[in-house]
Amino acid sequence: MKSIVILGSTGSIGTSTLDIVKRFPSEFRVVGLTAGNNDEILEEQIHHFKPRAVAMSNESAAARLRERCSGLSVEILCGPRGLAHIASLPEAELVVSAIVGGAGLVPTLAAIRHKKHIALANKEPMVMAGKLMQEEAKRHGVRIFPVDSEHSAIFQSLEGHRITDVRRLILTASGGALWDVPKEQLQDVTPERALQHPNWKMGSKITIDSATLMNKGLEVVEARWLFDIPESRIDVLIHRESIIHSLVEYEDRSMISQLGLPDMRTPISYAMCYPDRLPLDLPSLDLTEVGKLTFCKPDHDRFPCLGLGYESLRIGGTMPAAMNAANEIAVEAFLQGGIRFTDISGIIHSTMQAHAPQPVESVDVALEADRWAREKADSLVHALAR
Ligand code: NAD
Ligand code: MG
Repeated sequence: MKSIVILGSTGSIGTSTLDIVKRFPSEFRVVGLTAGNNDEILEEQIHHFKPRAVAMSNESAAARLRERCSGLSVEILCGPRGLAHIASLPEAELVVSAIVGGAGLVPTLAAIRHKKHIALANKEPMVMAGKLMQEEAKRHGVRIFPVDSEHSAIFQSLEGHRITDVRRLILTASGGALWDVPKEQLQDVTPERALQHPNWKMGSKITIDSATLMNKGLEVVEARWLFDIPESRIDVLIHRESIIHSLVEYEDRSMISQLGLPDMRTPISYAMCYPDRLPLDLPSLDLTEVGKLTFCKPDHDRFPCLGLGYESLRIGGTMPAAMNAANEIAVEAFLQGGIRFTDISGIIHSTMQAHAPQPVESVDVALEADRWAREKADSLVHALAR
């Protein structure tokens, strides 16, 4: 039985992870959970999974949770220290990192430094400080298993092969909710429209990232550090059906890929159980039903955010962290109705242009770039505010 902690247990990845735990109660023991501000869902999870300790980043939500759970033997912590404490619980072997955004960097790093293996869904920390996270994982003898479906597909397609034989990685992208929308109509797209992802049901931030293609830009950076491969050997292919989850091309031009219906429980369970595979009771992929798979090139003109992801890697240092922070601010402003869909890429680009990148020598350098870029992007949002 594996003892696990889930950071971000109330979100889309967090609840899918707990669904796996529920299906395989003899495989996993939940020792700690964390959430942002949803104390109602966390209370239900406490009743069902009986973790020893939990933490909420929002202090008033933690206070409400303490009242709700007053008769239960669960330790309830709050704030960044509380999150880092749960990430480091001595009995935990694996930490599922599923917070959204840069807020996951410090607790995920705390888990690595306390020798926990990581099932990594939370891609933003890899974007902010991927090299550092990999160095820390190496130093502490732990592994970072990808949960992101594309990276899980690459991880699976690399098994039994030598990384030195790899010619390139090809990340597939669904194209998101707005792939078919003409350029001149993109500025009038509402948050409700942009949130209608064709294939995946996910949290709102990543769903908007999919619509701008920033998600793929972040994933290029994530792949760069997860697989230690330069960005010049990472390609992106639009594949609307989300059946081929990514591919690896080898030097002999052979391509290996992983296929499946879009359901995050497959990559989550693989990251949790590697190298074992859980007998998940999910529908099988029927390729005769799918009939045809389609592919095309990304459109950098309508969706400039993917190119910004590549550019951030070419510039290097803290530039990916600055890009990520500006994106978080711009996406939130778009969701709140403060800016147009097409303003998102402009805000990220302007923030990157104003940023003076530094080498990411410590987590503090990445956090400082994150803080600076949030402030810069915020001022750009206010200048545009409608
Ligand atoms: P979500 O919004 O559904 O859930 C986020 C979780 O993090 C929630 O539990 C929330 O309470 C918590 N949280 C939010 N802000 C926080 C903060 N400041 N401090 C502490 N906790 C906070 O998001 P999601 O869709 O589950 O995505 C989680 C991560 O996984 C993201 O990085 C996303 O890019 C990545 N990911 C998600 C999917 C998916 O299918 N949802 C697929 C691939 C990768
Ligand atoms: Mg993905």
